[in-house]
Amino acid sequence: MIAGNWKMNGTAAALGEIAAMAAALRDLPDGVTVAVCPPATLIHRAALAAGDGPLIIGAQDVHAEASGAFTGCVSAAMLHDAGARLVIVGHSERRAGHFETDADVRAKAEAVLAVGMTAVVCVGETAAERDAGTTLTVIGGQLDGSLPTTAAGLAVAYEPVWAIGTGVTPTIAQVGGVHGAIRTNLVARYGDAGKRVPILYGGSVKPANAAELLAAADVDGALVGGASLTADEFLAIVNS
Ligand code: PEP
Repeated sequence: MIAGNWKMNGTAAALGEIAAMAAALRDLPDGVTVAVCPPATLIHRAALAAGDGPLIIGAQDVHAEASGAFTGCVSAAMLHDAGARLVIVGHSERRAGHFETDADVRAKAEAVLAVGMTAVVCVGETAAERDAGTTLTVIGGQLDGSLPTTAAGLAVAYEPVWAIGTGVTPTIAQVGGVHGAIRTNLVARYGDAGKRVPILYGGSVKPANAAELLAAADVDGALVGGASLTADEFLAIVNS
């Protein structure tokens, strides 16, 4: 699974990138999922631009409740209605910038799964936590607090906070070590179903480093920020 996170970037002028991605990805092999998550304002038009091919359009956040007095928020059913089929939840920019707790993230993931969409639950340590030697403890706690009760429709993204948007990536051994620990946690939690939950690496994935990162142990795909904004760069990552 390769998922692109456009963050707060893109207006109608960027829809040509979605159309170009969709055209190039018409013949994706079975078992490969490619998604792009534009800002909420573009989801419906992006879904139309993607057409009926395999490119999935997703969202970057969701409210956990189905409806009600939550000004400015959007529910899972609304995102699905707009054409989204996947939602990123618990991105570190939401956890840090919008004070989202593990419990909030779990509630959002449950809401996404309840309407039949894929939930990509993000976890990751800060530089200070890695320096303190607490990476696996921090990630274990985030998984324990954020993951939904069932594995169907779930993906997990390991995104070291210090690697997001910085151009710095962990070593392949560091990626494999964390992904292995996440896999162990998923199997302990969900049994055999935990073996099939895709674990994505995210943080400064580029065409130049994608093949090496994607070959690391227990890496089933990538969550891509900056390099997902143009079809050329994103397709190069998908192809690798
Ligand atoms: C992200 O925001 O999820 C991300 C991985 O960003 P970037 O690829 O730009 O580091």
